[in-house]
Amino acid sequence: MNQRIFLSPPHIGEAEAGFVAEAFESNWVAPLGPNVDAFERELASYVGAKGAVALSSGTAAIHLALRLLGVGRGDLVFVSSLTFIASVNPALYEGAEPVFIDADETTWNMSPQALERALEDARRAGRLPKAVIVVNLYGQSADMAAITELCEHYGVPIVEDAAESLGATYRGAASGTFGRFGIYSFNGNKIMTTSGGGMLVSQDTDALELARFWATQSRDKALHYEHSQLGYNYRLSNVLAGIGRGQLQVLDSRIEARRAIFDRYATAFDGIEGIGFMPEASYGRSTRWLTAMTLDPKTTGTTPEALVHALAEANIEARPVWKPMHLQPMLRHFAYYPRTETAQGSVSDALFAQGICLPSGSSLTIEQQTRVIECVQEHLADSRKLGSMLAAHSG
Ligand SMILES: *Cc1c(COP(=O)(O)O)cnc(C)c1O
Repeated sequence: MNQRIFLSPPHIGEAEAGFVAEAFESNWVAPLGPNVDAFERELASYVGAKGAVALSSGTAAIHLALRLLGVGRGDLVFVSSLTFIASVNPALYEGAEPVFIDADETTWNMSPQALERALEDARRAGRLPKAVIVVNLYGQSADMAAITELCEHYGVPIVEDAAESLGATYRGAASGTFGRFGIYSFNGNKIMTTSGGGMLVSQDTDALELARFWATQSRDKALHYEHSQLGYNYRLSNVLAGIGRGQLQVLDSRIEARRAIFDRYATAFDGIEGIGFMPEASYGRSTRWLTAMTLDPKTTGTTPEALVHALAEANIEARPVWKPMHLQPMLRHFAYYPRTETAQGSVSDALFAQGICLPSGSSLTIEQQTRVIECVQEHLADSRKLGSMLAAHSG
């Protein structure tokens, strides 16, 4: 049996073990310590943020960002619909009401048009959202200039969910640094990992200090344990921060590797009718965290689901693109703004129906990628053959 090919496995460099060993040798295995401080400094400097707080997950970072913005029971929070559930859950933790915003087909990210309609409706109803969570999907920044202009006009702060876009740029600046708060994830499948972890970044260092306080159970300054505010156990451990420091050193090479993987897929499937890829917007540079491909069922005779199954039989992991939040059983009853006013104009529904993420890990070898490409080609050829057989039969 062929060795399994994963969608986006961890890819450890050479420096990680050294930083982790240092933590052990100095007995800094307990939460916090020099690796945490250094990781925060190094990441903040990499993205050009004033400060950063290392946390146990990207989800925790979103949660603290929403707390800092005062999101509470009954508040509205706007959020991209085409995303992973972690973008939404923290709003639900606080009893807020999410409103889902569709994507733009040219970027697959939050549609400024849909956002504008949602903000205008909210203003008219006298109920503007407490925050807009903008997701930067699959390694690509959303159109932050258009979105920021709208949010400033309505006076609503932005939380940038850059869990998937660490290392990407928008007009030359780092993705994740455009909102009041930005968050990154170091979950195992992300472009760099600490096995699990996250980071909250901002230009507002006072707010970050408060987040740091909340993330360590809100321990007031006292000899005994004194608490005047609700807190969380959300800090990253010094051992894991050591992994992060090493990963940060090789991040740029990981981005190049993922972009090269995208280019090879795009070249291999170039000109095949019914096949497309997530476009790279001209305003920035994507990391191509995951290569997202579309197949038109009408011309290819197949679906993302069928292709995921075909690849699984060859021991290759692939996934449909995120199922939009407004289609999730848990969230269906919340409001949704498709890109154009009619429901048929929903871009994220169409992308879910046609989109598939191919193995994109930076450690993927040329041979492994060739295996994936050949398996996809075979499946497409079989589907086309079957399609014309059926057409001949019914004709
Ligand atoms: C991975 C991810 C998160 C959550 O990060 P964790 O570190 O796994 O909590 C949030 N948002 C998006 C879009 C993600 O892909």
